This record gives sequence, structure tokens and C-alpha cells, in this order.
Amino acid sequence: MKKSVVAEWRRYEDRYRLMGSVCLLCKENFFPRVTHCVRCGSSDVRDRLFLREGEIYSFSKIHVSPEQFQKQVPYYVALIKLDNGPVISSQIVDVGSEKLFVGMRVYAVFRKVSGTGEQALTYGIKFRLTKK
Ligand SMILES: [Zn+2]
Repeated sequence: MKKSVVAEWRRYEDRYRLMGSVCLLCKENFFPRVTHCVRCGSSDVRDRLFLREGEIYSFSKIHVSPEQFQKQVPYYVALIKLDNGPVISSQIVDVGSEKLFVGMRVYAVFRKVSGTGEQALTYGIKFRLTKK
């Protein structure tokens, strides 16, 4: 494959799966992927595919948003502790009357991030509440 194809595939993989990195020296996990460990500086890092489930670490309800997200207001953004990975930030979607709380179980889904019919659509990972 040409280098640009490889780079494009890696971006795709990072966006649509929870592909990150693990430092083989200090065992720290990173998402998105890194080339050097941000914690200890080692270049001995490997790809790691994180599980698509985790729990809410903290969250906020957004009432005033950037212009491109105004149709979604109000919406939730959260820090999510992945079951086998780091804490990442994401939007929580499809929240009905449920009251969010720290420790609540969530799972990753594939959703539109931005764009309309005339713009290029961008998709990525968001999270939903796990039904009991
Ligand atoms: Zn490290």
C-alpha cells in the first residue's frame, strides 16, 4: 500500500474503532494513539484495541454549544473510563428521562459527529447508556 493509503486507514481505524496505544514500559494506556509515551517518554508503544464498554467518570449537560451543535442542545458530554483503557471524552446520546450518574454503564456506538446534507458528513464514536 502507498503510504497515504496506510495513513488514511489508520485514521479510519482510530475514528471508527477504539484503537489506542499502550506503553510497554510503564503500561499506561492512551487514546487516541500515540507514537511516544506521554507519561514516561518511552517510544516502546504498541497499538491496543480498547473495549467498547465503560462507565461514566464525570459528565456535564450542555445548554450553550458551539454553533454546529446547536440543534442537539441540550446534550451530555462525559468523561468515560473504558473497561480496559484510559478515560476518554465523548458525547452521551439517546438520553431520555434517565438521570445520569457517576459509575453508570455505557457502550460505544457509531454516530454522525458533524455535517449536513450539503457538507461532508463526519462519523465517529459516541456512547449510549447500557440498559439493565
Ligand atoms: Zn510509558
